[in-house]
Amino acid sequence: MLGPRLLDFQKTKYARFMNRRVPAHKRYQPTEYEHAANCATHALWIVPSILGSSVLYFLSDDAWEAISAWIYGLGLCGLFVVSTVFHTISWRKSHLRMVEHCLHMGDRMAIYFFIAASYAPWLNLRELGPWASHMRWLVWIMASGGTVYVFFFHERTGSCFEPKVVYLPARYKLVELLCYVVMGFFPALVIFSMPNTEGIWELVTGGAFYCLGTVFFKSDGRIPFAHAIWHLFVAFGAGTHYYAIWRYLYLPSTLQAKVSK
Ligand SMILES: [Zn+2]
Repeated sequence: MLGPRLLDFQKTKYARFMNRRVPAHKRYQPTEYEHAANCATHALWIVPSILGSSVLYFLSDDAWEAISAWIYGLGLCGLFVVSTVFHTISWRKSHLRMVEHCLHMGDRMAIYFFIAASYAPWLNLRELGPWASHMRWLVWIMASGGTVYVFFFHERTGSCFEPKVVYLPARYKLVELLCYVVMGFFPALVIFSMPNTEGIWELVTGGAFYCLGTVFFKSDGRIPFAHAIWHLFVAFGAGTHYYAIWRYLYLPSTLQAKVSK
């Protein structure tokens, strides 16, 4: 990674905020500062995401809009809640290895369902072409596939009686990242079949936040607070997508005209 190499934080006074980098297949151990930041940067968004989802629900005009608001809201709130709980347990209760391991898997699984849920309002409420309409259920198959992958290939553990984490080769982590990228971009292809493409720029901007964030996702031990910065990029991406969903799919058209002015 070019950026982090140019500036070696290990040689600066900021090095005390992070620990040494670990091999690609092992898990980085955050410092106390980083643990706190990891918890805070996602906990902060739990209440706003509950309020935001409720707004969409109350703006719903029909059953499909209401259902989509629920699905999207559960995905959005679920991501921040699961992530906050996982980071809190891994900070304060890391001796509960099995619990921590299950929550880590849950944290990774929540991302797949969060992506599917983020697409749900667009896929359910916008008119799609005959082929593209299959994406409505395909995203959930993909999310389930990702979940199964996490279950089998995410840092395997021993039995409940002997909970030890077995690190798998680095290529499994690479495949995991690839799965997220495919899950994140493939459903967006339905845009080509949409007669109405309003909101596309907000969707692209949100996607760009996620992509930029992955640089930090892979920079533990190179950049202090890298994981917390990744969390913030996720929050900005989710915020941009929320704005697009609120404005283009839920806001009544009379108000939409006012927002556009
Ligand atoms: Zn995290």
